[in-house]
Amino acid sequence: MKIHEYQAKELFKQYGIAVPGGVATKSVNEAVKAAEEMKAKGSSLFVVKAQIHAGGRGKGRTKKNNAKGVILCKTIEEVREAAESLLGDTLVTIQTGEEGQEIKTIYVTDGVEIDREFYLGILLDREKSQNVIMASTEGGVEIEKVAEETPEKIVKVWVEPGMDLQPNQARRIAFALGLKGDAFKKAVKFIAALYKFYEEKDADMVEINPLVTTPDGDVLALDAKVTFDGNSIYRHKDIADLRDKSEENPIEVEASKFDLNYIKLDGNVGCMVNGAGLAMATMDIIKLSGGEPANFLDVGGGANVETVKNGFRIILEDPSVEAILINIFGGIVRCDRVANGIIEAIKDPEIAKKVEGVPIIVRLQGTNAEEAKVIIDNSDLNVISAVLLKEAAEQVSKVLAA
Ligand code: GDP
Ligand code: MG
Repeated sequence: MKIHEYQAKELFKQYGIAVPGGVATKSVNEAVKAAEEMKAKGSSLFVVKAQIHAGGRGKGRTKKNNAKGVILCKTIEEVREAAESLLGDTLVTIQTGEEGQEIKTIYVTDGVEIDREFYLGILLDREKSQNVIMASTEGGVEIEKVAEETPEKIVKVWVEPGMDLQPNQARRIAFALGLKGDAFKKAVKFIAALYKFYEEKDADMVEINPLVTTPDGDVLALDAKVTFDGNSIYRHKDIADLRDKSEENPIEVEASKFDLNYIKLDGNVGCMVNGAGLAMATMDIIKLSGGEPANFLDVGGGANVETVKNGFRIILEDPSVEAILINIFGGIVRCDRVANGIIEAIKDPEIAKKVEGVPIIVRLQGTNAEEAKVIIDNSDLNVISAVLLKEAAEQVSKVLAA
């Protein structure tokens, strides 16, 4: 689950992780008021930042006003103009795709004078099954580019599962960044606090780009990208409350209500599958036979009438779906039961209306697969049965070509 930069920074404050002051708002007047208050306290630089669930904002441009997603302002009037140009406009960055994302909230921050810019990230290294802390002197630059062109400029420290980050590990990172004196001490504290936050809140990625030092020797997070492990959100009500569904794909939000694991893709073949691995294999086979999957959908182990109905509801929300491939492996659940469930689901008047004109190919394999095929073949519905996955995929290509 993703959150906004301003939300991440609020959480950071609870952990004593240093961030510049800032106010998130949906209103131009409030943005101006926030900057005036900062000015009254002595600030002479303000930053107005689009809050969307995507990075690359500084290099991005809005569609209408051609404004950058991160705007440095020297005067209150500039803050007003920046707020006006961002709110309600759509920001396109390398991470949003061409359609961009609407800016509903902006964050006005106290501008920081930068001495040096660094990169600091924590994520799960799935190959090593350990959390890895990555840091680089090449801050403010895309880390992927650094990793590709000058990998020696990224220092990595892995943390033993079940152990805390050791003080010498935090020191090793600060040392590798070339920090000294006060900034060194502050960076060590910063890294330790950030790791504690990552662990305690079940984050699966924290990225600070840039982490900066100021001429006064302060160490601050100027940017904050945080994602949380969706499977552990139930343990953190405070994090769950930060979810901004308006930033997410509406069909994915709907699917999560039914506890379905759905991810929207760009193709035209809807898939309904039990098990994530089989869902991946199904997408591969669709591609191999010349089609393009419209979604990833794992309906879970049960595959009963209700889950199949919900699966149809979700898949058919997507207007690009031209055919549906149902691929269910009957292990514990018997295929003949699943076949009857599918037929019952399609006969439901609401679903029947939606699936009209959309060919459905059903491949059931496992316990009682043959009986299931007979049930599907004998139904008077517009459903094509298959036993082998390859056959099913060929049927998909055939109906799409017809
Ligand atoms: P991103 O483009 O989405 O990664 O957004 P960032 O929050 O990283 O902002 C983009 C860039 O704006 C940063 O890399 C900084 O160079 C610059 N920036 C952001 N905040 C400040 C600030 O307070 N002071 C200064 N001088 N530059 C800033
Ligand atoms: Mg950044």
